[in-house]
Amino acid sequence: MIIPKKSLGQNFLINAGILEKIVSAAELNRNDTVLEIGPGTGNLTKLLSEKAGQVIAIEKDRRLIENLKIKFPAVKIIEEDVLGFKPEEYDLKEEAYKIVANIPYYITSNLLRTIFEEWPVPKLIVLTVQKEVAKRIVAKPPDMNLLALSVQFYSEPKIIGYISKGSFRPMPKVDSAIIKLTPHNQPTSANPEMFFKLVKAGFSGKRKQLINNLVKNFGMIREDLLRIFEKMTMKQDVRAENLSLNQWIELSKLMEK
Ligand code: SAM
Repeated sequence: MIIPKKSLGQNFLINAGILEKIVSAAELNRNDTVLEIGPGTGNLTKLLSEKAGQVIAIEKDRRLIENLKIKFPAVKIIEEDVLGFKPEEYDLKEEAYKIVANIPYYITSNLLRTIFEEWPVPKLIVLTVQKEVAKRIVAKPPDMNLLALSVQFYSEPKIIGYISKGSFRPMPKVDSAIIKLTPHNQPTSANPEMFFKLVKAGFSGKRKQLINNLVKNFGMIREDLLRIFEKMTMKQDVRAENLSLNQWIELSKLMEK
C-alpha cells in the first residue's frame, strides 16, 4: 500500500463514469498519441491505453513507476517532473498528440504556461482542474482575468462537466471540473511578448481604470492612450476586466504602432 502524498497532489480518481467522461471528451482513436501527466495508480491510463494508439505517461513519484510498468507494458512510462519534460525528445510533434490528464492542481498555471509557450502545439488538451480555476479560464467580459487571457490567447476553452470531491481518494478539499482546450488553428495575430506585457500591466492594479494602470505600469502617455481608446470606441474609464480577448489583441497591435 502506497500512502498518497499531498505535496504531489495525489488524489486518485475512482469514479468510473467520470473517467469515461474525460476519455470521451478527448475523442480518441487508434491513430492518436496521448501524453498523460501524472498516471498515478493508472486509473485513467487504463482507459487511455484501450482507446489510443500510443500512450506516453510522465510520473514524478518513483514509488509508482514499477507498478505502472508492470500494469501497462505497452505504455511508455517516464519518471520525470513534467515541468522539465521535453516532448521533442519523444518525437511528439506539433498537432500530432493529445494531452489527457487528471493533473496535480499545484502545477496548473505553470503547466498551462509550459504547454502553450514551450511545447509543440498539441491537437487537444483535456484536463481536470479545480472548479474555480475552470470558471476563471472560461471567463468572458466583465469577468476577464489574466488566466483566462493566458489560455484563450492560445486555445478555445470549454467546461465539459464538474466533478464532486467524492470522486477522488483521498478526498480533496475542493470540487473539480473537466476542461477541454482546443488550440487555435492559426496563431493569434498579436505578438505574444507585447500582448502579455500589456495584459499584465493592465491587470496590475485591481479594479482600477485600465488607463491609469497603463500609464503607471506600461510607461504610456495618457493622451496617446486616449487616442487609441477612441479609435477602439472604448470608454475612457474602462477596466481591464471589461475587455474581450479581441480587444486586448487590437489594443496590443495599436500600441505597437
Ligand atoms: N491519473 C491518476 C488518477 O487520475 O487517478 C492520478 C492523478 S493525481 C491527481 C496526480 C498525479 O500526478 C500523481 O500521481 C502525482 O504523483 C503526479 N505528479 C505530481 N506532480 C507531478 C509532476 N511535477 N510531474 C509529473 N507528475 C506529477
